[in-house]
Amino acid sequence: MVSGFPLRPGATVGIVGGGQLGRMLALAAARFGYRIAVLDPDPGCPAAQVASTMIVGPYGDGALLAQLASVSDVVSYEFENVAVEPLRKALGDTVLSPPAEALEVSQDRVVEKAFLNGIGIATAEWRAIDAPDELGHALLDLGGDCILKTRRFGYDGKGQARINAKSTFTDAFESIGKAPAILEKMVPFAFEISVIAARGRDGAIVAYDPAENVHTLGILKSSTVPGRVTGELARAAREIAGRILSHLDYVGVIGIEFFVGKDGALFVNEIAPRVHNSGHWTEAACLASQFENHVRAIAGLPLASPERHFDCVMDNLIGDDVERFDDLVAAPRSVVHLYGKSEVRRGRKMGHVTRVTPLSSGA
Ligand code: ADP
Ligand code: MG
Repeated sequence: MVSGFPLRPGATVGIVGGGQLGRMLALAAARFGYRIAVLDPDPGCPAAQVASTMIVGPYGDGALLAQLASVSDVVSYEFENVAVEPLRKALGDTVLSPPAEALEVSQDRVVEKAFLNGIGIATAEWRAIDAPDELGHALLDLGGDCILKTRRFGYDGKGQARINAKSTFTDAFESIGKAPAILEKMVPFAFEISVIAARGRDGAIVAYDPAENVHTLGILKSSTVPGRVTGELARAAREIAGRILSHLDYVGVIGIEFFVGKDGALFVNEIAPRVHNSGHWTEAACLASQFENHVRAIAGLPLASPERHFDCVMDNLIGDDVERFDDLVAAPRSVVHLYGKSEVRRGRKMGHVTRVTPLSSGA
C-alpha cells in the first residue's frame, strides 16, 4: 500500500458496499487517479461496472473485510448498517473514514437521538421501546400522533408504523418485526430539508447549500435547491451540521436530514455518515460534487469549494420512471445519471436527473 496521507494517484480507496453510492464514489475517485476496491455480495452490483477490484461476499465477513483493508490505503463505506466489530478487527493499520464512532451513532436511532440531544440539537421527542408493554406508557407520555421505528436497519421508510393512543399497540409492534424500537412524536413540519457537509483530515469544514426534500412513501422523491431554505434558516442548518462533524471528529461527507417546524424551528431527523441521495444535485450544480469532496476528505486532500452555480431540482428515477430515459436525455439543461441496474423493480432507485436553472439572486 502507498503509505500516508494525502493519498497519491495510484492509491486504492476501499468501499464497503457496491450500490449506486459506491459507484458514484468510484467514478469520483477515478478522477484523482485512485483505484477502487469494493466489497459487495452481488458481483453484478452497480459499482462492479466501475471498480478496479471486486471482492464478492457478505459485508460482515471478517476475512473479506481484512482482504479489502489489505488492498486499500483507506477504507470507507456507502451505507451505515455495516457491522462495526468485524470491520474494526479487520482494518489492521488501514484507516477507516468516516470513523467507526459515526457508524455506531447512526446505526441505532436511540443512540443517535441521545447523541444529538447531548450536544444541544433538537429532535422529535422520543422514548426507547424494548417491549410492547412499554408502548402504552410512552404514548401517553408523548401524547398525540407518534411513529414507531425499529432502532436499527431502517431505510426508505421501512420498519416504521404510525401510531396513536387509539391504535392497537401489538399490531404496530408486530408490523415492525417486534424489534427493539424507538417511539417518536410526529413533528408537524412545514417541510423537510437536508444539509450535505464535509470535514477534511485537517478539520476544515465545508457545507453545501441546504436542499428542500420531498419524500413519497418514505422514499426521497425530489430535492430542490435553494427551495424555501435561504437566509437564517440555511445558516442555522449549516451551523448544526458543523457541530455534528466536529463532535464526531469526522472525516468525509455527512448527510443530515431536518424537519423545519411551522415557526422555522429546526429538528434533526437523522444523520447518514456517507454521501446522501439528497446531495446528488451537487454533481450538476456545484463546482465539486459531494462524491468528490468525500474522496478528497478521506484521501487527505484539501476540500473543494461547495460553491453552487445553478438553482436546481433533482428527481429520483424510481422503478419505471427510468423508462422516460429518451425524454430525459433530450432536455438540454438536465443531467441524467443512471446506476446500471439491469432489473427495474417497483420502489427501486434506478437513477436520478437534475434540472438546472440560472442562479436566483439572493440565494
Ligand atoms: P429512513 O431511515 O427510512 O429515511 P426517517 O426516520 O428519515 O427514516 O423517516 C422517513 C420519513 O418519514 C421522513 O423523511 C419523514 O417524512 C417521515 N417521518 C419520520 N419521522 C417523523 C417524525 N417524527 N415526524 C414527522 N415525520 C416523520
Ligand atoms: Mg430518512
